This record gives sequence, structure tokens and C-alpha cells, in this order.
Amino acid sequence: MSKYVYSFGSGKAEGRADMKGLLGGKGANLAEMTNIGLPVPAGFTISTEVCTYYYANRRAYPRSLQREVRSALRQLEHIMQASFGDPENPLLVSVRSGARASMPGMMDTILNLGINDRVAGGLVRKTNNPRFVYDSYRRFVQMYGDVVLGLKPQHKDEIDPFEAIIEETKKREDVKNETELDVSDLQELVARFKAAIKDRTGHTFPEDPEEQLWGAIGAVFGSWSNERARAYRKLYDIPESWGTAVNVQSMVFGNMGKDSGTGVAFTRDPATGENAFYGEYLMNAQGEDVVAGIRTPLPLLNLKEENRRMYGQLDRIRKILERHYRDMMDIEFTIQEGKLYMLQCRVGKRTAFAAIRIAVEMVRERLISNKEALKRIEPDQLNQLLRPVFDQQEKGRAVSSGRLLATGLNAGPGAATGRVVFNSPDAEELSQKGESVILTRVETSPEDVKGMNASEGILTARGGMTSHAALVARQMGKVCVAGCGALDIDYVSRTIRVDGKVVREGDWISIDGSTGEVIEGKISTRPSEVVRVLIDKTLDARDAPVYQVYAKVMEWADKYRRLGVRTNADQPDQARNAIAFGAEGIGLCRTEHMFFGEEKIGPMREMILADTEETRRRALAKLLPLQRIDFEGIFEAMDGRPVTIRTIDPPLHEFLPHEERLQRQLADHMGLPYERVRQRVESLHEFNPMLGFRGCRLGIIYPEITEMQCRAIFEAAANVKARGIEVLPEIMIPLVGNVRELEHQERIVRRVAEEIMKEKGIRIRYLVGTMIEVPRGALTGDEIAKVAEFFSFGTNDLTQTTLGVSRDDAARFLVPYVEREIYKKDPFEVLDRTGVGGLMKIAVEKGTSVRPSLKVGICGEHGGDPASVEFCHEINLNYVSCSPFRVPIARLAAARAALDEDGTKQPRSPRRSRKKTKR
Ligand code: PEP
Ligand code: MG
Repeated sequence: MSKYVYSFGSGKAEGRADMKGLLGGKGANLAEMTNIGLPVPAGFTISTEVCTYYYANRRAYPRSLQREVRSALRQLEHIMQASFGDPENPLLVSVRSGARASMPGMMDTILNLGINDRVAGGLVRKTNNPRFVYDSYRRFVQMYGDVVLGLKPQHKDEIDPFEAIIEETKKREDVKNETELDVSDLQELVARFKAAIKDRTGHTFPEDPEEQLWGAIGAVFGSWSNERARAYRKLYDIPESWGTAVNVQSMVFGNMGKDSGTGVAFTRDPATGENAFYGEYLMNAQGEDVVAGIRTPLPLLNLKEENRRMYGQLDRIRKILERHYRDMMDIEFTIQEGKLYMLQCRVGKRTAFAAIRIAVEMVRERLISNKEALKRIEPDQLNQLLRPVFDQQEKGRAVSSGRLLATGLNAGPGAATGRVVFNSPDAEELSQKGESVILTRVETSPEDVKGMNASEGILTARGGMTSHAALVARQMGKVCVAGCGALDIDYVSRTIRVDGKVVREGDWISIDGSTGEVIEGKISTRPSEVVRVLIDKTLDARDAPVYQVYAKVMEWADKYRRLGVRTNADQPDQARNAIAFGAEGIGLCRTEHMFFGEEKIGPMREMILADTEETRRRALAKLLPLQRIDFEGIFEAMDGRPVTIRTIDPPLHEFLPHEERLQRQLADHMGLPYERVRQRVESLHEFNPMLGFRGCRLGIIYPEITEMQCRAIFEAAANVKARGIEVLPEIMIPLVGNVRELEHQERIVRRVAEEIMKEKGIRIRYLVGTMIEVPRGALTGDEIAKVAEFFSFGTNDLTQTTLGVSRDDAARFLVPYVEREIYKKDPFEVLDRTGVGGLMKIAVEKGTSVRPSLKVGICGEHGGDPASVEFCHEINLNYVSCSPFRVPIARLAAARAALDEDGTKQPRSPRRSRKKTKR
């Protein structure tokens, strides 16, 4: 027969900490604390199975429940040497909810249950403390009236009906605090509460303790489906089917006088992670007073001074709990007439910052292993260590005072504050004067790269997580909020209009790239210690405790991960940043980003506008030395690590000016009539440029472009190698869907490479490979791998082409799609495992079937997303490549994927056991 009730008390419990599914978190931990000898008031837990039964059977209980509850209650009476409902020696209990996952404040609690007029009289005789008795009684009637009998405010502006009565009494008695009300006031409150309940709900307050108990149990189970609990579960992905348990526990009283009290504490500081006891308490108070904010609680350190013995006892329990649970715990305690009781413990919630510090320090204290530490740190939490953050209080004040303008996509994490500018030249100009600026655009294009670089942050109204703004910002390590559709950005009047407000050019604005919030005005930011040590080099590692914690986590991650981690970078400084963050190579150098330098855009435009091969070659000849210098810089920075360089990819019109003024300037510069330029720009217009004349199609129609780029790459490689620095170029052809495309481009690459190696009399190791970005490329991976020495999944395009969703236009409907759970997450942010991932698996299988040594990586933005990194590990990729600031996150995600696999999965295939570095 099923067992539904589990008792605890007197040092013995039927439950354990690992029975959370059945007993809920609170019940399981009360049992565990009892078993390890901590002072826990005795009680029993009604299991979550009853909740499931209750909802499956029109709110009825299993038949045996009443008998089990009675028997547990008798046992409790025996332990407590008191009887439920007995006026001479009454037992009072609390009834509380407790789900498997903590849902703070979402469900209901009732304290002091078991009191009625007769019991109250008996308690007065027993305790000789009428104030305590009637204070407990009025609290009980108040909670019961609210939770079980439903006397609540009817609309949002009404104050709680019980509080209204208390306020009236306080006013009449001319006192400030409830503690100043005397016994007769409290007795009067009890009577008025009961009358109000009867009057407004029609219910008579039950005097029979057993009826009270069943009413409370039903209310707690009922609260599992109240509106706020349902909303909370949705927010935190807690399944409806879990249900709550109900804990019935003998009361201990924090409101028995001066030597009684109650408090909540964390075994370490939940904000900073510091190993210091952190909490608050109130003397002569009960349960909810501390959290409800009716009276201001005191810091726990105060107790150390006020009552050393009590503090010592609590501190000992803190140590026992941490040793036992091997984690930072959140506890609730009550002191009754100088004696301490534990009412709850659970693993404490903490900031990302605290999580990382606590994990590292607990390894040092030998509480956990370094593997466990890695499993406890969510990779994205590292962002808090790497990125500047807002002063939380200041931000909180800004938001609560109505300065939150709108929320967009959290495209580039961190905090930035600066003056609004609406174009790139202004961004550059103002930042040169030492001002912080936020570049605000409807959307960005490659033309904006320099302005983006000069800005603290980038804000756009359009575009998704892989829009130009988003991916360039991440690569640069800039804060970015993208696709903030609520903003009406007007370049002409230089204003942002949102919700009746107007922000003008030069006004201060703050953007939180970790949450997507856009806030009016200036908010102070704090720089990252890790960046100061690794990138800015303005801080010594020895003086940087946060950096030291970070370095430890990275050291452990590298020990366990098997995926390589590379970076997407196209400038030497980005490459150096990435190496400082632990990148082992470049997985994607987008050469087109290099064409926006001052002297390069001119010849680039000449090249595009050329209408004969000859003029095109002339322009390319101007570009060659400039590209060569860029590549030399990259090879030098990478110092022998592999560098995957992609030949030109985007549609050519992206490089051309679209405003008449700029077109005229260009025409002048090139000595061409304006009309020729205008016509040529127009002729390059495409209806669907992302599926148009781009990728390898450019190099096939204009082979001289590929030729020039390869020349620049191999000459640079030869020059750098001649200076004694090792080089390892990997030439990558984009958007290949048919092996014949790759064959065409490969022939050019190998021919040029041979020519230059001969010219320079130097041998250079290099590879030729392709991006897999279109479904046909994935599906014909076996044909393509006959030519390609490596595959790199361009999952930005592969997502776009597999889903048939334009990456630049997706924000408008993908956000509602995610809200409606059509996709669980934005597929441009978190890899769509079944669709896009399915194609990746096919490509890996087919590719390696013809070329077992095929190297496979990913360079789409998913390469820096922890869940996607996990998938890449699972399908045996060799490396992931991501923007520099995500390199540490990918390292940790890769380690966690390997650790997860250790415990749960089959032994690895031989492919993945290869050494992880320098692939
Ligand atoms: C991709 O498509 O995933 C990719 C990396 O290329 P890009 O974003 O430059 O198109
Ligand atoms: Mg692409």
C-alpha cells in the first residue's frame, strides 16, 4: 500500500535530503537536518503524491491519508508531550507548502494552528504570557482567514482587510508598532478578525483544531495552482506535474519575549560569495515579520554582540550544514526562550559572482572537487566576471523611478552608459574628445564598424541575435542591445521616441547588454577586474582576487574539456584579446571586415564598380599590399596557432554608399560621372541579397578576387615565417553547396600558394576547407570532403537556410515565436538541435566517412553558446569558435559537456580522443 506521510523528530526521520521529489525541498531537508542531529521541531510531511492525487481526483485525498495523518499526529504529540486541541497542554503546529524546487513566497503558510478560545485560555495558564498567546492567536486567525477562508483585498488598490483593522487599532491606541499593543487590544483583534471573516466571506472561523488542520492542508495543496505559483513555474520551467508537499510541524515561538526571535541567514554572503555568515533577525517576532518588512530586521553580526552564546550556536550549525551539504545554504531559524531551532535549510540562491567564488573556495577548503566546482558554475555566469556591470543600486533606483525606456535583445553582455549619437562619424568624433557614446542606429551595416569600435555600446531598433550589430559587437567585446523595436529612431531630427518620451542626441542613456534593458540617463559602471588584468594590463594578477578565481576555473576547465576553443577575429587586437582569454586559434577571420579601413574602402569600391576584368584587377592590385599587412598582423598575433581565413563573403552592395551625397563623393574620387556610379549601385541591388551574389559565388564569377586574397595570405605567411614566427593558414571557402564550387576555388588557392612558395623559396603548411552553411552542403558532405580538409559550420547561415528564416528580419517574429514556444529559444542564439543540428550530424558522418582525418568546427555565433557547445561536443566536433569575450564561456561549457558525458554516456569514439589544442 502507498505511504503518504513521513515523520521526523527526536533525532530520527523517515525521509532524507535526496527524497525531494516525494517530500519537496523543505520536507526532505527537515528530515535530513533531523537525521544529522540538528535541533528541528518534530513534524511530518504529506508527500507530493497526495498533491498529484488531489488534482487528478477533483480535489479529493487518497483514502488512507486521514488515518496516516492521525497516526503521525499522535506520534508528534508523543514526542512533544502535548496534545492537539487540549486546552491544558496544547500542541500547536505550522502548516507549510514545500515543492521540489523552491518557489519562495509563491504558496501558502499557516502558523500557530490549533488555537481556539479554550486553547488560548489554557496556553495563558501554561505560559503565563497572555501577550504572546493572543499575539499568536490573532496571527493565526489572520493567516487562516486569508489563506483558507479567502478574506483578501478585492482589487489592487485595497489594503489587506486585516492590516486595515490593525492600523485602526494602532491609531486608536496611538502606537507605532504592533508590539506595543496590549493584551486586550490583541483579544479585540482576534474577535474583530473573526467577525470580518464572517461578515465578508460568510465563513465561520472553525474552532475545532482538526477541522483547522484539514482546512489548512487543503489550502496548501490548492495554492499549488494559484495564479502566482503558476506564473512562477512558467518562468522557471517547473513542471505542473511535480506538485507540492505539505509540512506539518510543531510550533516554536519567536514571539515569546525578549529572549525569543526569528531570522534568516546564508552560510556565506550570497552577493559577493565571501565566506562570512550573512543574515538578519528580529527579536520577539514570528516567521513572516523578517521577510515581510513590517519591522526592520537587524544584521546577524548584531546578535554576536547581543547574545554571544546564541550566535555561537548558530555559527556551529552553519559549519555543520556546509560540511554536510557541501554548499552554501540558506536557513531559517527561530529562538524560543533562548533555545535555537532550525526551521528550514536549502541550497542558497546567489549572484553569478558569488557562485564562482564559492565554488572555487570550497575546492580550496576540500568541501568539493574541482569537477563539482565546474558543474556548479553556469558558463554564462562568467559574463559577470568579464564584463563591466552597473552599480546595482543605482540601476534599481533608475528602473523604479520610471527611467526604463524599453527592452530589446541582450545581444552583447555588459553595462554601458554614454551620450546618444546617431551615426558613426559622430561616434568617432565625440569619443575622440573623451566622451562615452552609445551608437544608436535603426540597424548597423559594415560602414558602421569604426563608429561601433569608438562607442561604449551599440543600440539598434532592428535585427536579431546574429544581426550585423550583434555579431560585430560581440567580436569587439562591446555592449549591445539589438532589435529594440519599441524605439522610434529618427536620424533627421536626431531623436529616439519611445512611449511618449523623447531622447535627443547628446542625452545620456544606459544599456544593459545582459538583460536587454535601455534606461534613460547615466548609471555608473564598474570595470571588470579580469579585463584589467588580461586585456588592459592595468592591474597585477596578484592584486586581483576576482581574476585569481577566474584563472582557477579556467585552469580546471582546460583540464577536462576535449573540444578545442578558437575565436572569430579579424584584427590583431581582437586576436590578442582572444589569446589572453585562452583561444587556441582563429576559427573565422572575416576578410571583408578588413576592407573598411580608411584607405581600403576606396579601392574596394573601385573593384566592385569595375565593369571589366582589367579595371577590377587594377583595383585589386591596390588592395593586395593592404590585405597582406592585415594578415601579417594576424599571423604575428597568433604566433603559430591555426588561422582560418575566409575568402570574401557578403553581397557586394554592402560595400557601396547608398546616399546620393556619398555616391557623388565616390564618383568624384574615381573620376567617373555620378550617373555611372548610381547606375552601378542600382544594378547590384538584389531582392534577396543573403541568397544572392555572395559567398563562393563571388570568387567563382570573379576568380581574380580569390586570387588576390590568396596572394595576400600566402605572401603574409611567407613574410612572417621568414621572421621566425610559425604560421598555419587555413583557407576557407564560404557558402559551398556543391563540391564543384569548392573544386573551382581550391584550384585557385593551391595554384597561388604554390606560386608564392616557389617565389619566396619557403614551404608553408596550410589547409583548404569550406564552410557548411547551406543544407545541400551538409547533405553532400561526403562529396565535399573529398576536396575539403576541414568543415566549419556557419550556423548563422545554416540556421537561416535550414529554417528559411532571414537572420536580419527575424527579430520581429522570432521574439513572439519564442513567447509562444514555437521555438523554445531563439534558434539564432541557441542551436536548433533537431533541424540544424540534424544536418550537422549528417555532414559530420558523411564527411568523416570519406576523410577520417577531416577537421570539423563551428564558427557561427552558436560557438559561444553553452547549450550549443554541449551539442558540438556530443557530435564529435574538434573545436568551437566564438567571439573573444565568449572564449572563457566556451572553455567552461566544453569542460562541463565532457564532465556530463563522463557519468552518463557511452565511451567516446576515437575521433574525439585526439588532443584538444592546436587543431
Ligand atoms: C555563419 O554563417 O555562421 C558565419 C559564421 O558567417 P557569417 O555570419 O559571416 O555569414
Ligand atoms: Mg555565413
